[in-house]
Amino acid sequence: MFVVLLGPPGAGKGTQAQALSKQLGIPHVATGDLFREAVANQTRLGRLAQPYLERGELVPDEITIGLVREQLERSASRRGVLLDGFPRTVEQARGLSALLTELGKRVNIVLRLSVPSDELVRRLSQRWTCRQCGAVYQLRAGPPDAAGTCGACRGELYQRTDDTPEVVRRRLQVYFERTDPLVSFYRQAGFLVDINGDQEVNAVTDEILRALNQRRLVNPMTLDGHSGSAKRSLGGAARKPATPRG
Ligand SMILES: [Zn+2]
Repeated sequence: MFVVLLGPPGAGKGTQAQALSKQLGIPHVATGDLFREAVANQTRLGRLAQPYLERGELVPDEITIGLVREQLERSASRRGVLLDGFPRTVEQARGLSALLTELGKRVNIVLRLSVPSDELVRRLSQRWTCRQCGAVYQLRAGPPDAAGTCGACRGELYQRTDDTPEVVRRRLQVYFERTDPLVSFYRQAGFLVDINGDQEVNAVTDEILRALNQRRLVNPMTLDGHSGSAKRSLGGAARKPATPRG
């Protein structure tokens, strides 16, 4: 199953991709990770991408598509992937379709996580990053403990200087202007499903699994034993709407 996750920074794509990867047994492919890995290994494409990444510029489509191609050709990705951070443009979306056609596959569904702008600004303004391992924490009132250290590696947490509400708002605006054509492209193609990202993490995952189930992309039986929550939601969808919690 080839799934594209769309959504602005702060919408929870990474979190959902991790949860879904576990439940569906297909890898989560984040283009950010592909770039980092290729640069670290100094592959041909990594060396081509490096100067753009260092300057903080968008990596050209051919390089990005090349990296995704390498990933899709790996055996673990042949059954499907959850794409996070790709495609970003209509050009890249066309590249992806061409690539999948070559492999005898196609995009099955595009999930767009929607979260109101004010909530995104709130989330992004509360982000703390670990200096050592890059883990990101969502914190209401400062670092988690007096020491302000990372739960994973005890590294120091800091707030990115560009995570102020004004800068965040501008970044989001740029994001929406850039990706609107992509959203229209996938909507016209009939792949797009809107997911309400403004709810608890588990509730978002359940809504996604219901969407996959509705399109017959998952067999509810295959989810048995993976997650009680998935089973409940898939069964619940057939009977009656789930009762809101809390
Ligand atoms: Zn850390």
